[in-house]
Amino acid sequence: MTVSLIDSHAHLIDGRFKHDLHQVLDRAKEAGLKAIINVGYDLSTSKKAVTMSLSHDILYTAVGAHPHDAANLPADYLETLQQLAKKPKVLAIGETGLDYYRNLSPKAAQQKVFREHLQLATLLSLPVIIHDRDAHEDVMKILGEQAKGTLRGVMHCFSGDVDLARRCLDLGFYISIAGPVTFKQQGMLAEVARFVPLDRLLVETDCPYLTPQPFRGKRNEPSYVYYVVEQVATLRGIDVESVASVITGNAEVLFGID
Ligand SMILES: [Zn+2]
Ligand SMILES: [Zn+2]
Repeated sequence: MTVSLIDSHAHLIDGRFKHDLHQVLDRAKEAGLKAIINVGYDLSTSKKAVTMSLSHDILYTAVGAHPHDAANLPADYLETLQQLAKKPKVLAIGETGLDYYRNLSPKAAQQKVFREHLQLATLLSLPVIIHDRDAHEDVMKILGEQAKGTLRGVMHCFSGDVDLARRCLDLGFYISIAGPVTFKQQGMLAEVARFVPLDRLLVETDCPYLTPQPFRGKRNEPSYVYYVVEQVATLRGIDVESVASVITGNAEVLFGID
């Protein structure tokens, strides 16, 4: 069985991949991955992701600052991001968004930086990767102000209900499903995975976090995105190969991978 997969959200810049990145990437290729979006979460990891992509065919990059760091960014961070975004293999701006679960930066700072990321994505005509944790209403409000038909992107590690998914789809966004869809208590997410039109779905690992079953509790890695696709296929009652080929095509379209 050959499936072609794309992990639309991984953090291979994380220190947990320092010692065995080559093996992790080999396993990803064996599992059928043709691309991995390696997502920066501050200036230094964004830079590192750009550098990593130059020595590994399979790696592409997103540059951005996570809402956790919104209050700690240098005044000229946007210029730095803009420079980085012009480097080879940078396909998206992110991750960016709002995180009211941990609130590591004040809400006002998170919102300002989120708006600035959306403006940068619009300016550069790049898709945006959005992180929304316990901040659905403010994320939708800010997206509504900024979207105006030209902004494209994905709600990564989607954690809302069907109604929120519908609102994101109405704005033209893709919905990305991560490992939690394989957990036992996944009623709402299972509903979303069945509801979203197949041509608007993406999958991701968000590794090293959110490891899917059957590896829950271990470090996550891009090859495990297969288990997310398998669960989506089971929930929708279609075969894995068909789901994989549509979802992979979606990621290619959104990020411009050929
Ligand atoms: Zn995130
Ligand atoms: Zn992430």
